[in-house]
Amino acid sequence: MYLKSLTLTGFKSFQKKTTIDFDPQINGVIGPNGSGKSNLIEAIRFAMGEQSGKSLRGNTMKDIIFSGSETESALNRAKVQIVLDNSDHLLSEFGDLVEVGRTLYRDGTSDYQINKQNVRQKDVQNLFLSAGLGRDTMAFINQGKVQSIIDSDPVSRRGVFEEVAGVYKYKLNRREAVSNLDATDFEVQRLKDLLFELN
Ligand code: ATP
Repeated sequence: MYLKSLTLTGFKSFQKKTTIDFDPQINGVIGPNGSGKSNLIEAIRFAMGEQSGKSLRGNTMKDIIFSGSETESALNRAKVQIVLDNSDHLLSEFGDLVEVGRTLYRDGTSDYQINKQNVRQKDVQNLFLSAGLGRDTMAFINQGKVQSIIDSDPVSRRGVFEEVAGVYKYKLNRREAVSNLDATDFEVQRLKDLLFELN
């Protein structure tokens, strides 16, 4: 599986719809300071379901929407679409191409799509987790990341391997199931108390 293309509309400095096609081999992005190279990486993370505006170098999520320039006025939404080449069927439930899209509006809400069908954020995250790409994925090595892995404790380091191996997805599902069971236990206990009072 590889990233085949990235399309940005109103994302940070990319006011106009811009599509970048990638090669299956190594790709390099070059350009002057401030030309938007890092914005491209952030756009990919945004489409993958990133929730923190701060980790996209903003104060809030809305800061990623094109804020206007000397000649262009600000926009009301930012849209990013990524196309994955899945011809190796790493994502077994999908065809040769998978398109993932996210739109963020000024009110802070987001729409997510997989192959043009509206889906939940969780579905997009699950899709990437199935490919071993999670929230803190090792697919993005930022400045200082290598050092932080070297310095991390064994539990955090194990988390890195779990994510890459695709196990993390099941851990999240388990956590959700346990929390649902706890909530059910609580309700059962409440009903028992009510029954006791009625008897
Ligand atoms: P460097 O080589 O210095 O790291 P870069 O090529 O990685 O730079 P980026 O950091 O990706 O550049 O882009 C920064 C540019 O994006 C700045 O000019 C900034 O004004 C612009 N920018 C960031 N957010 C927005 C926004 N919401 N609307 C418009 N422009 C934005």
